[in-house]
Amino acid sequence: MSHELAAENLRLRKQLEQLLETAEENQRILERYHAFDLQFIGAGSFRELIDALFLSFPEAARLDVVTLALLDPDYDIRRMLAELQINLAELPHLLFLEEATELGELLASLSRPVLGTYAQHLHGPMFPEPIPAPASVSIVPLRRQDRLIGCLAIGSHDATRFAAGMATDFIEHMAAIVAVCFENVINHERLKHLGLTDPLTGVNNRRYVERRLLEEAGRCRRQGYALSCMYIDIDHFKRINDRCGHQAGDEVLRGVAGRIKAELRLSDALGRFGGEEFVVLLIDAELPDAIGVAERIRQSVGELPMLLSNGESLDVTVSVGVTTLQPAASTESVDELVRRFLQRADQALYQAKEAGRNRVVGWTEGRAPRQAAVSVQAGKA
Ligand code: GH3
Ligand code: MG
Ligand code: MG
Repeated sequence: MSHELAAENLRLRKQLEQLLETAEENQRILERYHAFDLQFIGAGSFRELIDALFLSFPEAARLDVVTLALLDPDYDIRRMLAELQINLAELPHLLFLEEATELGELLASLSRPVLGTYAQHLHGPMFPEPIPAPASVSIVPLRRQDRLIGCLAIGSHDATRFAAGMATDFIEHMAAIVAVCFENVINHERLKHLGLTDPLTGVNNRRYVERRLLEEAGRCRRQGYALSCMYIDIDHFKRINDRCGHQAGDEVLRGVAGRIKAELRLSDALGRFGGEEFVVLLIDAELPDAIGVAERIRQSVGELPMLLSNGESLDVTVSVGVTTLQPAASTESVDELVRRFLQRADQALYQAKEAGRNRVVGWTEGRAPRQAAVSVQAGKA
């Protein structure tokens, strides 16, 4: 009898240990989800949200692959992400759909989550090359106010992890959070973007360039690369307004902004600083390189007339002042450094105007502005 009791005791003890282990494991899972939930809900930018979804979520939920497809029929989201300097080529798990029908057969079943063994013909659109296809998947529609905004796909190499008929409450809860967070962060980024954009030309505004300049000047000092800046001012712009009207002037501003932008790299920053004045920041560019870019801009603006919507065409020229910030150690504050930097670009621009317009002037450190290196082109102005 006592032998039987002892055996029973041991069995119960083992059972209890197992239950405790399961409870502890569940507690750990819950804590991981909770940490992920907080990170996800607290994400203040698109970048943070993407990192939470593609890095933390698979870890918290022990998933092997997560992809997200967002409906973006007018390229609005993609354009905004490009402006935010987010390189989509680095995010293969983020997909964009011009229309929901690109999901093919999957779309028909997307009123509810789809769970089951992976099937290429059905789930393939959510796992395009080079993403390895999982063994089992769950695909969940993302909706906001009854509107499909995208689709979340989660997959496991374990073929039994997701099967038709399993409860989907948790997945639906996750999808609801993902949908709200993405909509919020996209709206938030859009507003931020609008606050930093010049509505007339679509390029950055003064606030953006000033903020970026402070960041880049600090980075230039820490990391030791040169930062160049150019002031571009349209020549005799007042005459264009006076002769052709304010609207024609606005069209010229848009045209010039477009021609400047076409000569820049994605890492450079272009902003309209005021009236008919633009500022360009060239990251990691020495003065001769910056003068080269300025010269290309000057030529691109001047070589072909601007065509206006009323059929007229106008010859437009620009003058450019260029300066470079060397990463030399200095005790100046970054604010002071930036103030002097802009002042020099402005002085170089003033010289270009004085010397007859339609030209590029570079201001070099250690020389009086009057003797600055000058790259002069025959002016039309
Ligand atoms: P300079 O060659 O010396 O630069 O001469 P300018 O005529 O270009 O320079 P000025 O600063 O005398 O004139 C700038 C003009 O730009 C005056 C202003 O009416 C016009 N302007 C400022 N903002 C806008 C705008 O948003 N749209 C239009 N159409 N004109 C503007
Ligand atoms: Mg001008
Ligand atoms: Mg001006």
